[in-house]
Parts: sequence; structure tokens; C-alpha cells
Amino acid sequence: MANTQKMIVGNWKMFGTEPMLAEIAAIAAAPAGAAILAICPPFTLIERAARAAQGSPLLIGAQDVHVAEKGAHTGCISTAMLTDSGATLVIVGHSERRADNHETDTQIKAKATAAIAAGLQAIVCVGETEAERDAGQTLAVIESQLDGSLPETNLRLVIAYEPVWAIGTGRTPTEAQVAEVHAAIRAHLVARFGVTGNTTPILYGGSVKPENAHALLGLPNVDGALVGGASLSATSFLAIAAAV
Ligand code: PEP
Repeated sequence: MANTQKMIVGNWKMFGTEPMLAEIAAIAAAPAGAAILAICPPFTLIERAARAAQGSPLLIGAQDVHVAEKGAHTGCISTAMLTDSGATLVIVGHSERRADNHETDTQIKAKATAAIAAGLQAIVCVGETEAERDAGQTLAVIESQLDGSLPETNLRLVIAYEPVWAIGTGRTPTEAQVAEVHAAIRAHLVARFGVTGNTTPILYGGSVKPENAHALLGLPNVDGALVGGASLSATSFLAIAAAV
């Protein structure tokens, strides 16, 4: 296990308006546990979430960012806008963005690079589809995504392994499958960044819930979790954090 302090990150996706700030407040008010906690709400809630979390160890992040500092990019959000709103981390390359917005590894690398340069932590997501796993291509797909989407530095870099078929489905890979992919990611990080690759956090994501969190978080090279659905309730998110 490379990292002693685990990181539990909630990805709220396109869920949440004003009333959901109560969940942020409840997470922020919970007694500090062993894990680093973060919630990535929609852009519209970031500033209010950061205010609700003020004075607590809860971090607030975003789910995407544009590569440019500013400019004519209607509807986009820059790194400076994120930090100005109180975000300290950003998810890039989530499989839903790779699918819905046709984001490429090259674009994801540029986003991660821009985020890190702006002082944000960048959580770069990788993961295979079910067809790729069935075809025995999982490790090759992950390797290729890491090759193409990781920035040149691992400063403030976090990786999230999220099998596409496990997201929002209630299905998870076996413990052996998770351990195998995380070991491959660790080997890639060390080959690429040297010994510091041992301390780059690797999160697992895909149907993490209170019931399976303890087993998943206990696997080698699993340094935390990226949680979708179960992060929308403070109760289930904190139960996952308590499993650390
Ligand atoms: C996610 O959105 O990154 C995710 C892992 O979703 P879920 O936990 O709902 O599978």
C-alpha cells in the first residue's frame, strides 16, 4: 500500500441544486476521520459548497475544466474560475465525458496539465468498457489511456480506475480484478515518474457503496474511492469514509 491516508471523492454528476447543500454541510460537520474527503458538485454549486465546507477538512472540486486560461469558449469554465469559486481539485476524463463529449486522451492530458499548473489536484479517470474486458483487453486499454492522458508531472496528480461497466450499475469487478488493474497502474506510474509514482493516489470507482467499501479499500494499491450515486447522501458517503 503506497499511501496511508485514503481519499474518498464524491462525484455528484448533474445532480444537485440548493437543497443538496445540506448534504455538504452534514459531511463538513462530521468528525474528521482517517480519510481525506472531497465532493465534486455541479459547477453551479461549487462556490456555495466551498462556503458550506469552510473551516472543515472537506475539499470541494469540479467535474471538468477547459484547457484555456480564458477566451471565446461559450459555456466553458477555466481553472482560474474554479479556484476563484473555492475548488481545489477537478476530475478530468470521466468516462461519461469521454463518451458524451467525445473527449480524447490528448484533450484529457491538456486539461490535467492546465489544472495542475493552476494549483489544482487533477483526478484523471481511466477504465475499460465491458466489451474490452470481455475481449481480454483491459490492461492494454488502461495502459494506452495512461500513456495518452497523463500529464508530464505527477505533482498533484490522482488516478481513478473506473471500469465503465461498473459505473452506476451496481456491479463491481472481483477483488482480484481490481487489484490486478491497480498493480498495473502503479507499475506504469513508477516506470513513468520514478519512485514518486509510488505515492500517486490510485482511486477505485464504480458502484462503491457502504457495503463493499471496506473490502475494496483494503486491496493493495487502492488508495481511495471515487463515488458517484452513493455520494449524493451524506449518510452513505460518510459510511463509505468510515470503512477506511
Ligand atoms: C462515478 O460517477 O464516477 C461513479 C463511480 O459512479 P457510481 O459510484 O454511481 O458507480
